[in-house]
Amino acid sequence: MEYGRIFNFSAGPAIMPVEVLEEVAAEVLNYRGSGMSVMEMSHRSKVFETIRNEAEADLRILMGIPDNYKVLFIQGGATLQFAMVPINLLQNGVADYIVTGAWSEKAYKEARKYGKINLLASGKASNYSAIPDVSDLPVSPDADYVYICENETIHGTTYSELPNTRGKILVSDQSSMFLSKPCNVADYGMIYAGVQKNVGPAGMVVAIIREDLIRKDLDPKTPVYLRYDTHAENDSMYNTPNSWAIYVCGKVFKYLLRNGGLAEMDKRNIEKAKILYDYLDESKLFHGTVAAKDRSLMNVPFVTGDAEKDAAAVKAMKEAGFENLKGHKSVGGLRASIYNAMPKEGVEALVDFLKKYEGV
Ligand SMILES: *Cc1c(COP(=O)(O)O)cnc(C)c1O
Repeated sequence: MEYGRIFNFSAGPAIMPVEVLEEVAAEVLNYRGSGMSVMEMSHRSKVFETIRNEAEADLRILMGIPDNYKVLFIQGGATLQFAMVPINLLQNGVADYIVTGAWSEKAYKEARKYGKINLLASGKASNYSAIPDVSDLPVSPDADYVYICENETIHGTTYSELPNTRGKILVSDQSSMFLSKPCNVADYGMIYAGVQKNVGPAGMVVAIIREDLIRKDLDPKTPVYLRYDTHAENDSMYNTPNSWAIYVCGKVFKYLLRNGGLAEMDKRNIEKAKILYDYLDESKLFHGTVAAKDRSLMNVPFVTGDAEKDAAAVKAMKEAGFENLKGHKSVGGLRASIYNAMPKEGVEALVDFLKKYEGV
């Protein structure tokens, strides 16, 4: 492959489009005649202001974000949002969480420090191999929000339908599926995503939040950085933002716009995932671990059923140039993350290899 790159199936930080990396490389010593890289320039400069504003404007077009939603660029990873969400959104002090895997479980545990947090539904009984029925849940009448992780990166599950929240606002962690398909932002009170999975480099979260949910009457001891109003009122520039991540993500937004947008990504992602799932459904050696209706198009866990065989397969794949296929340490087995930037050829090559490895 170009530049000696390999097919990288990492769950995150993860593969990015070569085109974007080439643009970044071309600009890294001298960004468009500024005489410096974006890493070296003041975040208050006109040049950077344009970069930031274009990144937000392009994301708004890509997702069709309504005007009454703010777009925030925040540091601290998705993990910080596990705390920022309850700190900022709890008013009655009550929220309902649906736990479908490792990431929503972490968010649930963190939120419990801040209020009465109900476990509205859980996939634990199925070892998180399926999304529970969320069509008719006993949502708490006084819940400030209902929380989901829309794509569980480790367990490989995704929602085929959003939960019925009975009019309560929905907060969604979209980290590992952000921009993988069209999204009706108005269905949510808030969406957030760590960008190092499906978009850009690590170190930043994009938060999209309805304006009326951004409150000013928080506990005055709330650290200024952890308040959404701080970021909203300062165009995410209250302090030095992750300027590098904003710049690179901005390039990915432009790349997505010129490649057909989110509808086209969805089409490609469905096609790519089908190649792998079809193989896993037929294979005598490997099988997927997730109920068919809840399978993620982004993260595909699979196993042989024997830990030693799994490890041997990971090793053989690595030797053949397929990197980062080891399942998360908490669940074992194998996992292929096939984000937007993974070309179809990468999935085809992986399946060809798996077939040969299996001897079919
Ligand atoms: C990776 C991940 C996180 C944690 O992200 P950090 O940026 O490492 O804090 C949270 N939620 C989901 C769904 C993830 O995939």
